[in-house]
Amino acid sequence: MKYDMLLLRFGEFTLKGKNRKRFERTVIKHVKSKLKAYPGTSIIEEYGRMYVDLGGNDHHAITDSLRKVFGIVSISPVKVTPSVADEIVAASLGFMEELNPQQGTTFKVNARRVWKAFEHSSHETNHLVGAPILRQFSALKVDVRNPDIELKVEIREARTYLYYESVPAVGGFPRGSNGKAMMLLSGGIDSPVAAWSSMRRGLELEMVHFFSFPFTSQKAKDKVIELARILADHAGEVKLHLVPFTEVQTSFTKTGQDNLMITLMRRSMLRIATQLAEREGALAIVSGDSLGQVASQTLGSMNVIGRATDLPLLRPLVMMDKSEIVKIAEDIGTYATSILPYEDCCTLFVPKSPTTNPNLRIVEKIEASIPELPEFIARAVEQTETLVLRSNDDTAMPDSIQEDWF
Ligand code: ATP
Ligand code: MG
Repeated sequence: MKYDMLLLRFGEFTLKGKNRKRFERTVIKHVKSKLKAYPGTSIIEEYGRMYVDLGGNDHHAITDSLRKVFGIVSISPVKVTPSVADEIVAASLGFMEELNPQQGTTFKVNARRVWKAFEHSSHETNHLVGAPILRQFSALKVDVRNPDIELKVEIREARTYLYYESVPAVGGFPRGSNGKAMMLLSGGIDSPVAAWSSMRRGLELEMVHFFSFPFTSQKAKDKVIELARILADHAGEVKLHLVPFTEVQTSFTKTGQDNLMITLMRRSMLRIATQLAEREGALAIVSGDSLGQVASQTLGSMNVIGRATDLPLLRPLVMMDKSEIVKIAEDIGTYATSILPYEDCCTLFVPKSPTTNPNLRIVEKIEASIPELPEFIARAVEQTETLVLRSNDDTAMPDSIQEDWF
């Protein structure tokens, strides 16, 4: 089928009264950045609806790209015709012809007269369009309840839209529309998925990654940079804070408390992330924890680890199964990078039997036995390096064009 436009439907954020305009603009900006790859396309806004004029491009690749835009719940490729009765009928016949219905296919016409000055009511239009279709295509049968093909005919003043398919899109909130949080990004499978899930909810994220030269390699760091870059394809742009963690980490190894290593490290990671959050104006910390997945993700561990920060700790994956997480990782394009075998600072120091139920008082005692710990933490924050990673989609888009657009 050769389509003219795409109809984009917005999600739940349209309910949110006065924020609506701001949210719509954010989605438009995101759509615009995706459309840069398709010359000739343009955006048309019409009474709370948004269309993309395909400008002669094939609709498949563009639909696939726009499905990933946060805030869009579904997309319908549409054919366009002037809002004149004869033309609508002719275009509808052409539409069915391209669909080439097989014997026994059921259908119905669902017309909607949005432009009240159009000469036929919605009900009349159903007949006006349906009758000649039935005459021309003997293979078709009418079924008003559950048809195989429901031809939607939407009559608006500027033009009439014909469509029947609806492709589901990612939904959620427009990017960056719900505040900022710090994301603990490791090189694993889970945290990039947690990051994407948060972005989909409209959170703006800054990534925090802890590395331990010389125990972790440059390759492990590059892998995390690549993951952040992939996430920038979804977010437009992300900051990645690379925190040198060796000093903090080795101060724990010296205590000989192997079983509590992960608990101690995690608590310090949270303290560092909290300081970075304060500096950057972020209001929460996000991690890729999933309940019960490993020793540090039991309820007992989450309790003792979580107490190291006063900020809300968001764990988008907490109730998800690994198989669901892997599926999302594949969909968002992080999986192949996540499974590259480079050691993370945590995996490297995993003891044989990490505790699944750490005792808060003992943990606090061990921390108190390292008087330099606050200093090490402060130094880690100070020596943090920050990279800014941009989406491949967005790089070629100068700010001036973005501003002009509104
Ligand atoms: P992931 O696949 O995200 O690494 P995981 O199942 O391997 O998760 P852990 O390694 O125990 O689990 O890590 C739990 C969470 O702690 C991660 O999802 C991430 O949010 C955070 N985290 C772990 N290591 C690091 C690190 N080096 N830098 C930043 N965050 C980390
Ligand atoms: Mg990990």
